[in-house]
Amino acid sequence: MKIIMLGAPGAGKGTYAKQITQKYDIPAISTGDIFRENIKAGTELGKKAKGYMDAGNLVPDELVCDLVVDRLQQEDCKNGYILDGFPRTIPQAEALTEALKKQDDGIDFALEINMADEAIVERMAGRRVCEKCGATYHIVNIPPKKEGICDECGGNIILRDDDAPETVKKRLEVYHEQTAPLIEYYKNLGLLSVIDGSKGLEQCVADISAVLESK
Ligand code: AMP
Repeated sequence: MKIIMLGAPGAGKGTYAKQITQKYDIPAISTGDIFRENIKAGTELGKKAKGYMDAGNLVPDELVCDLVVDRLQQEDCKNGYILDGFPRTIPQAEALTEALKKQDDGIDFALEINMADEAIVERMAGRRVCEKCGATYHIVNIPPKKEGICDECGGNIILRDDDAPETVKKRLEVYHEQTAPLIEYYKNLGLLSVIDGSKGLEQCVADISAVLESK
């Protein structure tokens, strides 16, 4: 099962990807997490990506595409995967389609988590992440058991640099300009399912499962 998660930053792609991973035992691959790990480790890729990310812009396609295509060759992807945050532009989607086609392969589902911008801005204001393992929380909707401390690894829970309100605004603009056209792209390929992200975690997971089990 090969799945793409589409939707604005903060719509919940990462949270749902994690649920699908647990339910269907396929890895979730988040390009945002890959970049954050590289920034933390001080790699060349991390150094190149940081400036774009901090400004709320996309990292250039040429730094993203090969990285993802290589990652998909790894053993854990042989039964499928969920791509969270990739593709984010039409050239990225085309590169992915082409790379998979060469292996006589293709994406099975593109899930769009649909949410109004206002709801996203509100949600992002409360989003927090573990600085150590990247687990995601929300101060109201998904609080950690102990305030400020990650349930999974005991790390500190912080506001992500690019979740600051002015950067969120920029990221939403970038989403509408560069990423939203992918909805039409995957619709034309007959792969798109729209999930109403305003329904809450449990209902969204149920809706996603219904889609994935419909084929
Ligand atoms: P995310 O965690 O998915 O919200 O990604 C955080 C940031 O990483 C984005 O705002 C971009 O700057 C960068 N990024 C992640 N995935 C991509 C991608 N597929 N293409 C370009 N930039 C990306």
